[in-house]
Amino acid sequence: MPSSTEYRGRFAPSPTGPLHFGSLVAAVGSYLDAKHHHGTWLVRMEDLDTPRCVPGAADDILRTLEAFGLHSDEPVIYQSQRTAAYEEALHRLKDNGAVYPCCCTRKEISDSALYGIEGPVYPGTCRNAIPVGREGRAWRVRTNNEAIELTDALQSRITQHLESQIGDFVVKRADGLFAYQLAVVVDDAFQRVTHIVRGADLLASTPRQIHLQRLLGFSVLNYMHLPVAMNGAGEKLSKQTLAAPVDESQPVATLLRVLDFLRQEPPDELLNSDVGTVMGWAVQNWHAERLIGMQALPACE
Ligand code: GLU
Repeated sequence: MPSSTEYRGRFAPSPTGPLHFGSLVAAVGSYLDAKHHHGTWLVRMEDLDTPRCVPGAADDILRTLEAFGLHSDEPVIYQSQRTAAYEEALHRLKDNGAVYPCCCTRKEISDSALYGIEGPVYPGTCRNAIPVGREGRAWRVRTNNEAIELTDALQSRITQHLESQIGDFVVKRADGLFAYQLAVVVDDAFQRVTHIVRGADLLASTPRQIHLQRLLGFSVLNYMHLPVAMNGAGEKLSKQTLAAPVDESQPVATLLRVLDFLRQEPPDELLNSDVGTVMGWAVQNWHAERLIGMQALPACE
């Protein structure tokens, strides 16, 4: 058994398209932090939202990671094959009365909800019982207004009151798919992840994940939210904003741009070296603290 001080990190891409500069930043940042601490680094494919997954994208992402010297230390797990584990977690939540079925449609919710930090706050229509004549479609987890505090290695302390700012949130969707928030918590515990390094776009999700970790009796993890990469229009690089796939033809130059983005100040001589040398230098010289307080930065594509 690993000791409790062991560092286990991970990169958890959703295979909705090829890796872009922003996702490579999360991959490299999580890898460097893990390896700098002599830890284990894992890759997990978050291919749960099957309608959004693109055939071939998972293999494509793994090939790209390899080109940058990013090898998972253990076999890659796929969320699409982990439904039984999510079902089991949902059962535990049901047994504890922590979740309830909900019949509300998106339209019904947006018609009657107040707006919180991430859109409509569920008004609680089905919290005590589903209205007569209706059927449950999704499962929601009960929230409360106790302050959930998150101490992040880079970002200032976050406090969220889930009930009023987010509302009871979905853990199993009306289409039968498990929600990201539940799957991520179950898998991080299953893989014994201790440190999460990912983009600051997921900062607001973290208190929901802490809430689920507590309900399921899992340990709360260490978090580091890296700045997200923005395009010239100030939008987060993503498939929706048509971010270009990363340039694998010149992996050293691309890696140096990622290290520049991460404020690691790689020496110019590295440009004439190879991927292994660049990564070796970067692991040794990792200074995450240079990113303190940065939530978004222009991409160096
Ligand atoms: N799969 C998520 C994404 O691609 C990341 C999940 C995580 O790192 O917790 O945005």
